[in-house]
Amino acid sequence: MRAIVSVFVICFLLSCQSQKNIIKSNVNAINEQPKLVIGIVVDQMRYDYLTRFYSKYGDGGFKRLMNQGFNCKNNHFNYVPTYTGPGHASIFSGTTPKMHGIISNNWYDKVSDSYVYCAGDTTVQSVGTTNKAGQMSPHRLKTTSFADENRLFTQMRGKTIGISVKDRGAILPAGHTANAAYWFHGADEGHFISSTYYLETLPSWVQAFNNTAKAESYLKEWNTLYNISTYTESGSDLNAFEGGFKGKKTATFPYDLKALSQTNRGYDIIKATPYGNSLVADFAIAALDGEQLGQDNITDVLTVSFSSTDYVGHNFGVNSKEVEDTYIRLDKDIERLLNALDTKVGKGNYTLFLSSDHGAVEVPSYLESVKVPAGYFDTDAFKTMLNESVVFNYSGENLIKNISNNQVFLDREAIKSYGLNLIDVQQELVNIIIEYPKVYKAYTATSMTSAEFSNGVESLLQMGFNQKRSGDVLFVLDPAVISYSKTGSTHGSALNYDTHVPLLFFGKGIKTGSTLQHTTIPDIAPTMSALLGISFPNGATGSPLEFVLEH
Ligand code: ZN
Ligand code: ZN
Ligand code: ZN
Repeated sequence: MRAIVSVFVICFLLSCQSQKNIIKSNVNAINEQPKLVIGIVVDQMRYDYLTRFYSKYGDGGFKRLMNQGFNCKNNHFNYVPTYTGPGHASIFSGTTPKMHGIISNNWYDKVSDSYVYCAGDTTVQSVGTTNKAGQMSPHRLKTTSFADENRLFTQMRGKTIGISVKDRGAILPAGHTANAAYWFHGADEGHFISSTYYLETLPSWVQAFNNTAKAESYLKEWNTLYNISTYTESGSDLNAFEGGFKGKKTATFPYDLKALSQTNRGYDIIKATPYGNSLVADFAIAALDGEQLGQDNITDVLTVSFSSTDYVGHNFGVNSKEVEDTYIRLDKDIERLLNALDTKVGKGNYTLFLSSDHGAVEVPSYLESVKVPAGYFDTDAFKTMLNESVVFNYSGENLIKNISNNQVFLDREAIKSYGLNLIDVQQELVNIIIEYPKVYKAYTATSMTSAEFSNGVESLLQMGFNQKRSGDVLFVLDPAVISYSKTGSTHGSALNYDTHVPLLFFGKGIKTGSTLQHTTIPDIAPTMSALLGISFPNGATGSPLEFVLEH
């Protein structure tokens, strides 16, 4: 009897012991989460900017992420339009405009019969400026970001801070529950600002940063970082395919930014040079201290969007010396940010990813000059044609309400009042549009909601189609055909030059390696959720990329 009892006691003790071990290992697992997650977006970064300028990068920036982290080399957007607002929303919410509702930067709103801006919000006030530039919030974003899920998971103890020169680049990544998002207001102020959606006044560290005249220090000469003759990865500095700044005859180095700021909206000119990225890096590094990010075991999230790359790309084009110099300098800013993270948060204590909100097309006029099919689409002429087409004018009433973002919005009330069938009208519109030069395809909204497409441009259109917000007819232009000026690059299409963007993971919990397996933008947020062991963003449609995570 006694023996049996002691066996029992021993078993009980053993089971207690193993129970303890389980609890202990769970505690360890929680402690092993990164102290800080940093999500970096480089606005308008094509995948090939990693490889094209590789020999110009130092060891501590892009190369460090590529070689010591995990490089998803075949990463794409899986929807159109490939614009900034939708891109930032999709990266952090793990889904597409179909679900998160950010269908463009600006779009025609059917309900109010007016244009709305993806981050615009007149119900909130500016903080840090009397200008309206602060009237912004994420209220049009329908779903949560992984940063929101981290806030919910940690009972709001894990912080979220969003930073960019662009308001939407700061606001959409940070999500609904962010402690703050900060963006740059140029004009005659040159400050980082926010909105009452987040806080009532700028914290003292932001005020202090704004008072350092950092922005002013970047109103200096922009010349190439290295001798321009070594920039063999881009076209000649002087060519017919670049825009340039108002007040300077040629789009050639060097640029006197102090002088040019007079004719280029004051401090706003900084945004359109690599120094805009430097300023964002300065501010992000200041935020590490100012917000005490990554200083305890509760994971914080910092989102940083480098947007100057987009302005430079739009102005000078994919093949320009200006773009090459901007990436060489961004590499240095990323190195600076990584070094600050190593010092302030600690090597191995943070996890970082880097991607882009869309790519960009080579300047079509340049492509034409080297015999690649490309061209320009005259949207105004197209609109006139559609508006004047007899079919859509009934008793002097135009059945077309709006044409924007390659979509046509019909006047549904008028269609009803004339006893017309909406689907027939949509189809008639498709029949007219498809005849138009440089239009590749056209679809009715009805086709977007009545069938499921699994591949091709149809699938990308469908993933970008939001039934409440999108138009009645969608059309797609020919490859490398854009509605834009004859100089500079733009983006928005379903083609590889716009969809193929970098995806790099680095730091705690991330394997070293690379893959050519196809990955998509909505996979990023679920991967970060899986790493943190938290819920996926509520509308996430992507899947965790298991091969990048250590287990
Ligand atoms: Zn963008
Ligand atoms: Zn140039
Ligand atoms: Zn852009």
